[in-house]
Amino acid sequence: PLQVGCVVNNVETLYNVYLAFQGTPVTRKFVSVAGDAKEPKSFWVPVGTPFRDLIELAGGATVPEFGMFVSGMMMGRLSFDLDDVVTKTTAGLIILPKEHYLVSRKDRPLEAMDRIGKSACDQCSYCTEFCPRYLLGYDVMPHKVMRSLGFTLAGSGLWNQSAELCCACGLCTLYACPEDLYPKEACDRSKREMRSAGIKFVQQKPVTVHPMKEYRRVPLSQLRRRLKVEAYERETPYQAIDHRPGVVRIRLSQHVGKPAAAVVKPGDKVEAGAAVGRVKAPDLGADVHASIAGTVKSVTDAFVEIQA
Ligand code: SF4
Ligand code: SF4
Repeated sequence: PLQVGCVVNNVETLYNVYLAFQGTPVTRKFVSVAGDAKEPKSFWVPVGTPFRDLIELAGGATVPEFGMFVSGMMMGRLSFDLDDVVTKTTAGLIILPKEHYLVSRKDRPLEAMDRIGKSACDQCSYCTEFCPRYLLGYDVMPHKVMRSLGFTLAGSGLWNQSAELCCACGLCTLYACPEDLYPKEACDRSKREMRSAGIKFVQQKPVTVHPMKEYRRVPLSQLRRRLKVEAYERETPYQAIDHRPGVVRIRLSQHVGKPAAAVVKPGDKVEAGAAVGRVKAPDLGADVHASIAGTVKSVTDAFVEIQA
């Protein structure tokens, strides 16, 4: 888009950029609760609101035991923790029964994903052939990254380079792989390893769009069928609510870059919008702010807890 002179971003981010110019920090988040919720809906809540509150606001879950996909099934993460909290980047929750295909797919330790991949990947390369980044012409080849699982000493660095421009869309793991393996997670790990080794990606050849790109688009209806979520295709209408949680936990790391360091201590009184964590210059990061007025209850390395 920059080449044609425009910026594409989601509406809430652009709204928050506007607020930032007015000197207003992000203290509220627009979230949707979908899936096995009694009343799927969308609403604003203060940052730091526990997931438990979100589920109550959506009328409760329709199943006794469930997992929550945080910010989507393809790119989000799976949580079972109702005390987990909304951050500046939480888009919403999708509640699925604990026995759902996607929950059991994602509820697996990374080591197990690697172990299964090492023994079962037959290098069919479907993961690469469907990868939207590969089809755009970038040097992303998840099947090569999967190959590195079996050859951790010989050539793994080279093959891991094939993960560097992966955007973590999840299509390879949840749609393309006929063996139900985890190429996206292998790419995630490779990117982490390359970053901690200080290895930077170097584009080896010009970016040329793949001639099959237009013919390999994945229809949403097919994706929903593959993910077994067709039954959850319902609207999440907006509801104007004024939710005031009794306690919020403001995470000190909600963004890229370095986490913020707490600048308050237990017992301090804070107003909504006051900074409770700051990033020290010259580190790259973002300050975090109280989303409600109240008293600081506790401070840890991970969060600042505020009681209304
Ligand atoms: S699609 Fe699955 S089996 Fe085929 S190369 Fe990729 S990870 Fe391996
Ligand atoms: S998760 Fe990464 S490697 Fe997999 S399809 Fe998406 S961009 Fe490609």
